[in-house]
Amino acid sequence: MSEIRHPELLAIADNCVACGLCVPQCPSYQVLQNEADSPRGRIALMRGVLEHKLQPTARLQQHLDQCLTCRQCEKVCPNQVAYGRLVDGMRAELLQQQPARLPWLKRLGLQRLAHRPQWWGRLLKLVRLPLVRPLLRHLPASQAWLPTLREMMRRYQPQRWQPCYPPSGEERGEVMLFLGCLARAVDVAAINAAIQLLNLFGFRVWVPQQQVCCGALLKHAGDAVGAAGLLATNRNVFAGTMPVLTLASGCGADLQDAGDASFGARVMEVAAFLERHADWRLVECAPLAERVTLHDPCTLRNVMRSEQAYHRLLQRIPGLQLLPLAGNQQCCGAAGTYHLQHPQIARQLRDDKISAINTTGAEHVCSANFACGMWLNTALDGAERQVQHPLLLLQQQIRKASSC
Ligand code: SF4
Ligand code: SF4
Repeated sequence: MSEIRHPELLAIADNCVACGLCVPQCPSYQVLQNEADSPRGRIALMRGVLEHKLQPTARLQQHLDQCLTCRQCEKVCPNQVAYGRLVDGMRAELLQQQPARLPWLKRLGLQRLAHRPQWWGRLLKLVRLPLVRPLLRHLPASQAWLPTLREMMRRYQPQRWQPCYPPSGEERGEVMLFLGCLARAVDVAAINAAIQLLNLFGFRVWVPQQQVCCGALLKHAGDAVGAAGLLATNRNVFAGTMPVLTLASGCGADLQDAGDASFGARVMEVAAFLERHADWRLVECAPLAERVTLHDPCTLRNVMRSEQAYHRLLQRIPGLQLLPLAGNQQCCGAAGTYHLQHPQIARQLRDDKISAINTTGAEHVCSANFACGMWLNTALDGAERQVQHPLLLLQQQIRKASSC
């Protein structure tokens, strides 16, 4: 293997002063209790590779792959070490040198689905066929992914998204909505709730039909070229000056990471937009005398930094008691496809989260990321309580003010 030369990545690694503040905050360190599975340890390993003092052995790569890319370490780092850019950059370098890290069939599948997100719905339709279902159990590692697939099938709703949803009353502005790829098939109710709420506040919602996946799955797998291609397409499709709204923070974080004023700076979570731009005198909020707890997805908290917007939106519902969730800064273990690749670590994190949820005694559990919700639901399976998007609860309680 040739040496990896990347001065930009080395400069990021050199920013780390090894203070260790991030270590106890890291979910993989909490589970594995190994310095090499902490942010400080991983940065030291990556620096070693970039300075050509260490070989990227299989063991070293395993420590990097066990990172959930939750970016909690970035949030607490006093030196603003851009850990996400460093680990994704290193994964891209490793993939270039060792293409087998991402088998070609998996890479092709991810790329095809990313460019044709409507295929997710077709795939789930196919999986529903009685002849296909029993076969799935015989596929490799089915124990790890079948519960997630069952949850996807439970949530799947066929839906054809219109290019435009105009408000019924006076128009007060326009926004563009990013649907996501899997989300457009399994988070239909939340997307519809977002559209209805935006319309209620007078916003015309455009849904560009040519939008593609945000590229997060490819980027975290090391396919930086594939992810950059998707970003370029989305930049074109969402060109203009309108806000680009997301309601799956995994996608929103990745689009925001594009970082420039023409695109990344226009990306925001639906809740943050409603908080800032909605005229709340236009609506009435029916009381709900129930207890709710809200799980904060890592991407919303650590990258988009707008998790508090959902807390404040829910607190607008009279009578609703919002209960704090202990360990809310801790990743639930879903982390894109991480729970499929590292099921044991992911399950431990999920089970800790479920215990914290149960301790609250809340009747409703919300999460602003459908992927976290689906993963948590695999442990709540069969129970009456299911994780739902907070916009659904808000939509259920809000109606147009009678004075308007
Ligand atoms: S908190 Fe920042 S500077 Fe300190 S060890 Fe972690 S990454 Fe390095
Ligand atoms: S991104 Fe998350 S899992 Fe990875 S090193 Fe940072 S805190 Fe740990």
